[in-house]
Amino acid sequence: MWNVKAEYDAILFDAGGVFVIPDPAVLAPTLAYYGATLDHDQYHRAHYGAMAAKSRAQVTEDDWSHYNRRYVELVGVHPDEHDSAVYVLSRTRHAHLWRAPIAGSSQVLRALNQRGTPIGVVSNASGQVEEILQRSGICQVGEGPLPQVRCIVDSDVVGVAKPDPKIFDFALPYFAGIEKSRIAYVGDSVVMDIGGAHAAGLTPILVDPYDDAVDLVDCRRISTLEELL
Ligand SMILES: [Mg+2]
Repeated sequence: MWNVKAEYDAILFDAGGVFVIPDPAVLAPTLAYYGATLDHDQYHRAHYGAMAAKSRAQVTEDDWSHYNRRYVELVGVHPDEHDSAVYVLSRTRHAHLWRAPIAGSSQVLRALNQRGTPIGVVSNASGQVEEILQRSGICQVGEGPLPQVRCIVDSDVVGVAKPDPKIFDFALPYFAGIEKSRIAYVGDSVVMDIGGAHAAGLTPILVDPYDDAVDLVDCRRISTLEELL
């Protein structure tokens, strides 16, 4: 078993694809119209396959075309309907739908709180991520019922987005005294998260539960956040 305390002194997390995914409760009925499955587990699987397709295409935050195409394939849209489903997905999946909690997320953060590991969030978002992480029961900054993080950095709020390593400068003051290479950054995008964290001098970890990105990275990959414990 990997011992996080031996390897890292602190952990920063991406939010999308790490704590929450685009909500299958909205997307499944939307895409079922084009023949997709209603099995929510397949939407979890599709997210990671789609992220790998996006990473493979080497595009950054603003281009979701490769993601959308792979996503509709993986949820079982009939090939004749791919173009229509991609269009509707591109119009339906917006920032506020990244809200369906990934099982175990808050429990892992609680466990990290209990062992005193400093943690925070750095997300490419639209000004909504702190509110959604709280409403979805993942974490909060400061006192309250949820696991606590030292900061939640939202790219829209700070004006810098991954893979620009400068976005991490908004989090690092909350981790003063910890050497950057001893801070892990856990994300699901090879280009934005692994690339950005590497450029910032942090230690990147890819969430890759279906081994979609085996050939894309040489950093550590994990299937679930529990592996950080
Ligand atoms: Mg992400």
